[in-house]
Amino acid sequence: MITRCWLCGAVHTAASAIAEGSVIGPEPVPSDGDSTLCVSCGSWGIFAANTIDGLREPTPAEARQIRRNKLCQLTAEAWLQVRARKQ
Ligand SMILES: [Zn+2]
Repeated sequence: MITRCWLCGAVHTAASAIAEGSVIGPEPVPSDGDSTLCVSCGSWGIFAANTIDGLREPTPAEARQIRRNKLCQLTAEAWLQVRARKQ
């Protein structure tokens, strides 16, 4: 699956699932409507197969859900820490 960030234009050729605890079995494949964090710019996007880039900007309601989701908060925190180490 190749996607392009709706905000920064970075091309992504892979995605990893985030989960709490251990995951048994194959890694889930993203579906339309799932949220994803761009590792290049740290913005959240929504998988959308009906768009040219495969990702779209979250709606305001989706953005609120992402901000309130504990796993999304932890993922964004991890991204910020990794970015800080690279600078
Ligand atoms: Zn981006």
